[in-house]
Amino acid sequence: AAKKDGRGRAKTFSRSMLIVLEQREMLRRSLRTALQDKQFSIEYQPLVEPPFSIVGFEALVRWHHPLVGTIPPNVFIPMAEADGLMNEIGQWVLEEACRQAATWPSHFTVAVNLSPAEFLREGLTDRIAQAIDMAGLRADRLELEVTESVLLERTTNNLDTLNTLNVLGIQISLDDFGTFYSSLSYLKNFPFDTIKIDRYFIKDLESDEKSQTIVRSIIALAHGLGMRVTAEGVETIGQAVWLRKEGCDRLQGYFLGMPMPADAIGAYLRRSSAMATL
Ligand code: C2E
Ligand code: MG
Ligand code: MG
Ligand code: MG
Repeated sequence: AAKKDGRGRAKTFSRSMLIVLEQREMLRRSLRTALQDKQFSIEYQPLVEPPFSIVGFEALVRWHHPLVGTIPPNVFIPMAEADGLMNEIGQWVLEEACRQAATWPSHFTVAVNLSPAEFLREGLTDRIAQAIDMAGLRADRLELEVTESVLLERTTNNLDTLNTLNVLGIQISLDDFGTFYSSLSYLKNFPFDTIKIDRYFIKDLESDEKSQTIVRSIIALAHGLGMRVTAEGVETIGQAVWLRKEGCDRLQGYFLGMPMPADAIGAYLRRSSAMATL
């Protein structure tokens, strides 16, 4: 793999670059059989109403590669999308998360992320309706998280899809708010129940007045539009206290609870109900 640079010299890939490319190719190949080899799992991260009331969990997919170890979704989801594998993986996550949530106390919700490709694929509302039906999960216990990027294309269809989900009683959250286009027209036109403020604005909340101003404004904006607001990436007690004081409805982040496997939820719930009585 040699390429001439501007001055006519042959430029070769460095060895480490080659290794990175080979690793990516290796990963892409093994992604194809990962589902049938049962290499995916889901971790659940608590969503908390301040101060200590757990309202549900967000499902976060994990890929446990037999040689490489656990690979984060930000790495493998783009690969899966490029190879047309994300639909199948997403369908598995949806069904598994609904099945899991059906075993929880009935006031807990489960939030499932949908990538743009999953959201835009034909038949989404049917697949969702079928998944909650199969699991025996009440529609209002499922939340779907989408990012603004899904709203950029095919706008009328997107609106139809969101409206249908809304009519079914499913909750819809706008994830990572503030990082993308953040066009306010989305908020005007699409029926979101919740806005999730990206952790980019939360991480320096205690020291940065600009972040404070932005977060305060997003909370006011959401509430003015009748939407709930969740802060992502809450890592410190200082952030949690500030957000509670400013009226943020829900908190999510390592301070409230790390993502955990399904079988750790019981112990987490017992621990946190003990904490709440302190
Ligand atoms: P997201 O939906 O915004 O999820 C929140 C991410 O922030 C998760 O990363 C979570 O582990 C991480 N996080 C939570 N609390 C904290 C905190 O206090 N500090 C910091 N630094 N990070 C925190 P994760 O699990 O690596 O997922 C990354 C992204 O991958 C997700 O972002 C979501 O967009 C996507 N994703 C995860 N699971 C799925 C899935 O099943 N389907 C689809 N389509 N996308 C998924
Ligand atoms: Mg999310
Ligand atoms: Mg997010
Ligand atoms: Mg985020």
